[in-house]
Amino acid sequence: MITRFAPSPTGRLHLGHVLAARVAFSLARNSPDGIFLLRHEDIDGPRVREEFYQSTETDLNWLGLPWEGLALRQTSRTAAYAAALASLRERNLVYPCFCTRKEIQDEWARMGAAPQGPDTQVYPGTCHNLTPHEQLAKLASGLPHAWRLDACAADVLTGPLTFHDLRFGEIPVQPRLLGDVVLARKDIGTAYHLAVVVDDAFQNITHVTRGEDLLASTHVHRRLQVLLELPEPLYFHHPLMLDETGKRLAKRHDSLSIASLREAGFSASEILARTDPQFYLPTP
Ligand code: GLU
Repeated sequence: MITRFAPSPTGRLHLGHVLAARVAFSLARNSPDGIFLLRHEDIDGPRVREEFYQSTETDLNWLGLPWEGLALRQTSRTAAYAAALASLRERNLVYPCFCTRKEIQDEWARMGAAPQGPDTQVYPGTCHNLTPHEQLAKLASGLPHAWRLDACAADVLTGPLTFHDLRFGEIPVQPRLLGDVVLARKDIGTAYHLAVVVDDAFQNITHVTRGEDLLASTHVHRRLQVLLELPEPLYFHHPLMLDETGKRLAKRHDSLSIASLREAGFSASEILARTDPQFYLPTP
């Protein structure tokens, strides 16, 4: 069993991260040969700061959650993401998208109502409808563009799929749940969905554990695994830690960051007591 904790170094870890780390850590520890890995998901451009790689590692060590080997940085993996994207491009499973955020919003307004995903509105398909000639002309003009998954074409190719979640059971993949997601951003040449799938395979992750807010993304990830011929991991989407108003803990809750709590005099065992994953862990 190999699990991983994969935070972005865009802020200090808070209690919600500790819960996520401990779910992955405990699952690996409860298994005789389990291995727990750390991955810095650091492709988020200007929001990434050097100090946060260090604070993540300091916090995990302080809490007694050591990982095996060196942490993987996604910024060291751009060649692998480019190869995966090229393979999808060769099969016309992605298309270039030239839209700006404003153009997408205008299109939603023109349609009267934006196509709705589980928690966000989905791309209206503008660049999917370009003729091959229009597409080539835009590419030739050097306009910046992202690459989007052609969810329809991908669906035709893979047929119906499922993934297995240790909490929710067998889940049929809904191919259009998130629409034509971005697999390569204009600025960084990759994006979360592509990078996470490529890296989970690269790190031989057998059990992907993460918050239930990412459940919808798994519908995309399962499809990408099949398209890229990558192994299928098991999933465990755990409940999120909420603040007193019922909102998910986020970077804005800096007062609940581990560093702030440590500075305020809390011990590691007090923090561990507040983030005990035992109620959430899947039964063996
Ligand atoms: N980097 C993501 C986050 O910090 C987690 C990605 C994942 O677990 O798949 O929310």
